[in-house]
Amino acid sequence: MIPFLDLKKINLQYRQELIEAATRVVDSGWYIKGKEVELFEQEFSNWCGTTHCVGVANGLDALTLTLRAWKELGKLHEGDQIIVPANTYIASILAITENRLTPVLVEPDEDTYNLCPMRTAAAITHKTKAILAVHLYGQLAPMPEIMELAEANNLLVLEDSAQAHGAEINGRRAGNWGHASGFSFYPGKNLGALGDAGAITTNDEELTQTIRALANYGSHKKYENIYQGVNSRLDEVQAALLRVKLRYLDAETLRRREIALAYAKGIKNRSVKQPIKIDANITSLENHAFHLYVVRSSDRDILQQHLLTSNVQTMIHYPIPPHQQNAYASWNRHSYPITEAIHEQVISLPISPVMDNEQVEQVIDACNDFTGI
Ligand SMILES: *Cc1c(COP(=O)(O)O)cnc(C)c1O
Repeated sequence: MIPFLDLKKINLQYRQELIEAATRVVDSGWYIKGKEVELFEQEFSNWCGTTHCVGVANGLDALTLTLRAWKELGKLHEGDQIIVPANTYIASILAITENRLTPVLVEPDEDTYNLCPMRTAAAITHKTKAILAVHLYGQLAPMPEIMELAEANNLLVLEDSAQAHGAEINGRRAGNWGHASGFSFYPGKNLGALGDAGAITTNDEELTQTIRALANYGSHKKYENIYQGVNSRLDEVQAALLRVKLRYLDAETLRRREIALAYAKGIKNRSVKQPIKIDANITSLENHAFHLYVVRSSDRDILQQHLLTSNVQTMIHYPIPPHQQNAYASWNRHSYPITEAIHEQVISLPISPVMDNEQVEQVIDACNDFTGI
């Protein structure tokens, strides 16, 4: 069986270095808010191209705390409208509603699954105060156009970069386009910790200090609290492990792009719709970090069964759109046809830096053997 994602194999590549990093922390006697977090924040912001990075407990907190900080700074207020793609992973929307802001769900572009400038522009009202641009599946949203729209309408832009470490447009990476960006280092993400972890990147010093305080009980200074904050910190062990894995991330992303290109060129089955063009080359794929390789089929469930019997494990990202979840029951009667069709048709093929060429060929053959109903 070709596993959807072999996390153990990914981390065993760096076993010795990971053990050394963890040992360094064990031996240091310092486990929270120390040197490893400080160095990781520097290294990760350098890598993204931003001046600041704040490590936090997870990706959801990265998004939630950024919106909360904008509220504390008076830039957002309860009830303000935040534009967000209707087909995103639910965490993007949870960050908005947790802050008592109002999500405005916008249908995505059918081909990229990301916000499109036209529909985004059409959704802007006098109550719109921010855009949450999600780089879904690892592909950058059209950030030059989104930033232009935001500037023209005086909107804040928060990137959800949880799936897009290293995706770039014109040499500018995810995390360095919006006014701030949330990253997740959940183990299965392209830069994965060995537990939960997340970070915010930004070029805004004031925002950075506010988030740092909010994530530390609302305190800038020990035992003095200016906000009713939370405890959401990146710990020393995860930071030390992430520093090891960050050094290999560019190589891993290149391998993901190679596999994506092999799929795009090798899968020639009309009932398996590809996310990228067959004539693509590696350099044209830089806007995509291929966290997921998502194909579409009107016979999705049968395709998934066929792949399974061909020993290819797949996953669905995602089976139920946010507006049809019980968590948002008041939206259940709303209709987002593009989003609903996406959720009915998408299926994610295995893609990970530790797949070998033989496995890639097996996936391609299994897709090409599919004959539909
Ligand atoms: C994973 C993910 C998150 C949440 O990250 P966690 O670290 O799991 O909290 C947010 N948004 C998107 C798009 C994600 O894929």
